[in-house]
Amino acid sequence: MDWDEFADWGGKIARRGAAYHKTLRDRPVRAAVKPGEIIAQLPASPPETGCAMAEILEDFERIVMPGLTHWQHPRFFAYFPANAAPPSMLAEMMVTTLAPQCMLWQTSPAATEMETRMLDWLRQAIGLPEGFAGVIQDSASSATLAAVLVMRERALTWQGNVRGLAGGPVPRIYCSTEVHTSIDRAIWVAGIGQENLVKVPTVPGDPMRRMDTEALRARIAEDRANGLLPAGLIGVTGATGMGACDDIAALAEIAAAEGLYLHVDAAWAGAAMICPEFRTLWAGVEQADSVVFNPHKWLGAQFDCSAHFIRDPDALRQTLAIRPEYLKTHAHRDVTDYSEWSVPLGRRFRALKLWFLIRAYGLDGLREMIRNHVAWSRALCNRLREQPGIEITSEPVLSLFTFRPKGASNEAVQALVEAINSDGRIYLTQTNLEGRITIRFQAGAFGMEAADAEMAFHTILDLLSKTGGTQS
Ligand SMILES: *Cc1c(COP(=O)(O)O)cnc(C)c1O
Repeated sequence: MDWDEFADWGGKIARRGAAYHKTLRDRPVRAAVKPGEIIAQLPASPPETGCAMAEILEDFERIVMPGLTHWQHPRFFAYFPANAAPPSMLAEMMVTTLAPQCMLWQTSPAATEMETRMLDWLRQAIGLPEGFAGVIQDSASSATLAAVLVMRERALTWQGNVRGLAGGPVPRIYCSTEVHTSIDRAIWVAGIGQENLVKVPTVPGDPMRRMDTEALRARIAEDRANGLLPAGLIGVTGATGMGACDDIAALAEIAAAEGLYLHVDAAWAGAAMICPEFRTLWAGVEQADSVVFNPHKWLGAQFDCSAHFIRDPDALRQTLAIRPEYLKTHAHRDVTDYSEWSVPLGRRFRALKLWFLIRAYGLDGLREMIRNHVAWSRALCNRLREQPGIEITSEPVLSLFTFRPKGASNEAVQALVEAINSDGRIYLTQTNLEGRITIRFQAGAFGMEAADAEMAFHTILDLLSKTGGTQS
């Protein structure tokens, strides 16, 4: 392919992308294909000869498009969002065409220095104090893994990487029962073992499902008495199920008293902290050792872009930095090499989309989006509450609440979710609260408008009456 052809196709793809987004509301949100339908259309062996780009793009339209769930759809209310704002897409197009590798300062100084500045912009935007350094990780899972590795190495006085864990003291990590599975996996990958992740119950009847800090203290004391090694504590702000928020100030107090490293997972909810009125949800966060939130969820910097703030980057570097001769930067010794702050060596230029995004909308523009989502979600929750056949099972935490048809069996709730999603107008998912399947609603799509919440209301009532509501 020559570069004139490239420019031609690039223009066509950008126009196709714009047309797609302008007509997104006309498509069903969830892909309506059966398992195996897409792979059956892809030849089993690679072609020996090349073909024209026109042919590839025709096949793309025919084979791939029907198999996509439309995450940027304004009525995507499932999971959490994975927003891509248009300026962020343009930045990613730019990065894709330049294709730099940004593992060290010298492999692309602008990428490193842009990342330092953008993470400090984000730090200020979410109200974290000075003294937190930031780095972009590929995912919150990776940020949490890095935090768990630091917990382990600190507790083992930096000997874990040298000797391995066999035969030594056993590090223990504490979190609530509400946390994301990425915490479990970080514990597995760090070699600490599931049995040493202590899941502390939440306060009975607490609508925010905070970790029971009395139970936490008791577990730590018991572990010390048994010769185990308490190493770290993971708090959550806005857990995935129904948005549980730990009392971060209380966790920070315990972490300080016990000498534990405190990591806060605010992967979804952190974006809302650009609005000062929501910061009470994580009061005390300024005392954490590290915090992660995903601008690639709610904020609009498309995947992947996870912001990881660390109070003591030296501890992170001491855990993860490795410097063979071929990676040494001889000419400049006082520069940041972000590959020393994360598990992968190679890094994309991910800070550029933050620069485009934040400059294009300003923090005020992004705050308006978040505030709208929260307001629309609360209003919808209140309207559903007034319906005689509907029970609100958890109150809105930011823009997330859960509900279920009154008196329905779990099977009936699941069938209702399936019926709503097959209808195509909206897309929702379910969660399990104390053994009861309930329906999750979160508002967060970048292109969402008030009318989309209205459509959600009517779709839910429509399908509720069609499926017979409470009948199981
Ligand atoms: C989404 C989410 C994660 C995982 O985020 P990734 O970036 O996909 O790894 C972790 N914790 C919480 C609370 C989340 O909502």
